[in-house]
Amino acid sequence: MENDALKDKLDALFRLQDLDIMIRELKDPPTKGTEEKMGFSVAHLEKLQLARTRLAERIPALDLRLYERISRHFTHAIVSVENRICLGCFMGLPTSAVSLRTEPGMVRLCENCGRILYWLDY
Ligand SMILES: [Zn+2]
Repeated sequence: MENDALKDKLDALFRLQDLDIMIRELKDPPTKGTEEKMGFSVAHLEKLQLARTRLAERIPALDLRLYERISRHFTHAIVSVENRICLGCFMGLPTSAVSLRTEPGMVRLCENCGRILYWLDY
């Protein structure tokens, strides 16, 4: 039950990050001009921002603040974990991190880079 709540939370944060990256790219396209050709527009940006606002409303304030603080430093504030490796900084997570996971429903941070860990294979 608690793990489901955590999964929902992490899924929401992941989608929020996705929207943030899309919004950032629309505002500051890596290749200016391409977006116009592809049909992107100001209306498109507004839709993304609306979707972002709606999504953000569903995320607990504490987690949202945490995400926003980390995303000021990293494009990807939330990263996957594979074989106990943080895919944000590629550092192995210490075994002690396993015991840290005992608190249910809590969002975990990488001890090395401080990003939010998408770590669900309990
Ligand atoms: Zn890391």
